[in-house]
Amino acid sequence: MKKIVVYPGSFDPVTYGHIDIIKRALKISDKVVVAVAHNTEKEPLFDVAERVGLLKRALKGIKGVEVDDFACLVVDYVRKKKAHVVIRGLRMISDFEYEFQMALTNRKLAASVETIFMMPSEQYSYLSSKLIKEAASLGADLKGFVPRFVEKKIKEKLGV
Ligand code: ADP
Repeated sequence: MKKIVVYPGSFDPVTYGHIDIIKRALKISDKVVVAVAHNTEKEPLFDVAERVGLLKRALKGIKGVEVDDFACLVVDYVRKKKAHVVIRGLRMISDFEYEFQMALTNRKLAASVETIFMMPSEQYSYLSSKLIKEAASLGADLKGFVPRFVEKKIKEKLGV
């Protein structure tokens, strides 16, 4: 049986930190479903279709990855994909509280779904989509943070 894991998130937009986690997740699974969430409280820069498109392009050529979107509970989506594992990235202690709450809530909602946390390479441990957008709005060079085509799209959106 194929081991499928689901990596849910906003991905607004994809960064090298996300890609690092996806590559690590592939080491412990046969297939990683990268799932872009619709129901996020945050005000996104990119709509869901754009975020999916950027992820697909960034992950082109990496075998065993599927990019999808979902509008339901994460645990319901995981079960729909016939998976049992949610992958989340852990950067700093600051991620911990939110991730801990979410993992335990998901466990309460669906005891059969496990959450696995993975740490990125330390060069990405401070990277966030939010900070990248802020830096881009002030004209920063995003080399080393996101692929060039993603940088171009961010700057187009922000009009910088
Ligand atoms: P969310 O809004 O669900 O937190 P994000 O797109 O910000 O969505 O992140 C999705 C997942 O990827 C989260 O588990 C987050 O902690 C993780 N993540 C984000 N950036 C990085 C990074 N630079 N390194 C490792 N994990 C990351």
